[in-house]
Amino acid sequence: MIPYGRQDINQADIDAVIEVLCSDFLTQGPKVPLFEKTILEYCHAKHAVAVSSATSALHLACLALGLGKGDWLWTTPITFVASANCGLYCGAEVDFVDIDPRTYNISPQALEAKLIKAEKVKALPKVVVVVHLCGQPCDMESISQLSRKYGFRIIEDASHAIGGKYKGEPIGNCHYSDITVFSFHPVKIITTAEGGMALTNDRELSAKMELLRSHGITRDVELMTQAPDGPWYYQQIDLGFNYRMTDLQAALGISQFTRLDRYVEQRHELAQCYNEELKSLPITLPWQHLDSYSGLHLYVVRLQRDELSKTHREIFEALRAAGVGVNLHYIPVHTQPYYREKGFHAGDFPEAEAYYEEAISLPLYPGLSHEQQESVISVLKENLK
Ligand SMILES: *Cc1c(COP(=O)(O)O)cnc(C)c1O
Repeated sequence: MIPYGRQDINQADIDAVIEVLCSDFLTQGPKVPLFEKTILEYCHAKHAVAVSSATSALHLACLALGLGKGDWLWTTPITFVASANCGLYCGAEVDFVDIDPRTYNISPQALEAKLIKAEKVKALPKVVVVVHLCGQPCDMESISQLSRKYGFRIIEDASHAIGGKYKGEPIGNCHYSDITVFSFHPVKIITTAEGGMALTNDRELSAKMELLRSHGITRDVELMTQAPDGPWYYQQIDLGFNYRMTDLQAALGISQFTRLDRYVEQRHELAQCYNEELKSLPITLPWQHLDSYSGLHLYVVRLQRDELSKTHREIFEALRAAGVGVNLHYIPVHTQPYYREKGFHAGDFPEAEAYYEEAISLPLYPGLSHEQQESVISVLKENLK
């Protein structure tokens, strides 16, 4: 089966991890701060906090922004569940905003309409998590204008988007947001096995996330309630977690990072080939906004159902049976049983639900060979006649 995504590990990656294994520190050594510095310089951000996953980065980001009981977090239904769950971890309420039918990202128009209604009933969100789906940046300019008008904070869930650009600037620079989060899960653009990072330009937000990543414990005398009892001394001044990244993971991340730009270029080359070869099929190809450069984590096509005799599911099953490991990103979060229990229903977010009826993620990753891609294309052509 040709998977929809896959990591690329070379000898340099293996050597980097082995070097750490043979060193004094498997975790909390020099590699984590070096990885943070590497990513923040690349992204033109001021601070970076490496953590155990994007999920933990989202949780810490929400906590740093003061999200808690009685607050609202809004996000898009077309995302991985973690973009919404982070609000629930903090005791906040979660709601969704429908997607733009062309980009599949959160719709600024739908967001504004919902904000106008929420203002009237005094239920404005404290945090909006925007997701750069497939690597395509959201309309950050419009969303940040709305955030100033309505007073919410912005987290960019850029799990799909490292290596991309918005208006010529790297995603992760936080020009239009408070915090940006990356994922380094193996299916994502670069990997540390499990891992994530939160970037920000705000020193206080970064200090808070750093504290909470490691139990809420500090060794900074300035932050303590009393002078240290001795050189062993630390204080727990908040309730944190063990969300640390290990040095093994960071070493892998540093090594992977050296190929980041090339990876994204390869993704674009593969996407270009799909664009050419699939354009006459009854499917809608990904639409690319001209003001941005996508990280292209995913290549999602939508079936034009009126032109096809087979159902979405039948096509999906046929492709899988033919060895093409297509996938679906994502099941609208509000339709998950856990969220239905909270009162969401099918029909709540029609654009997101229509997308779900039609979307298919095709294989796209740097190691996808020309022959493999040709075989994906011919299987698609056969099944979409
Ligand atoms: C993968 C992903 C996450 C979660 O990332 P982990 O590192 O696995 O915790 C969150 N949001 C989106 C949009 C993702 O794709």
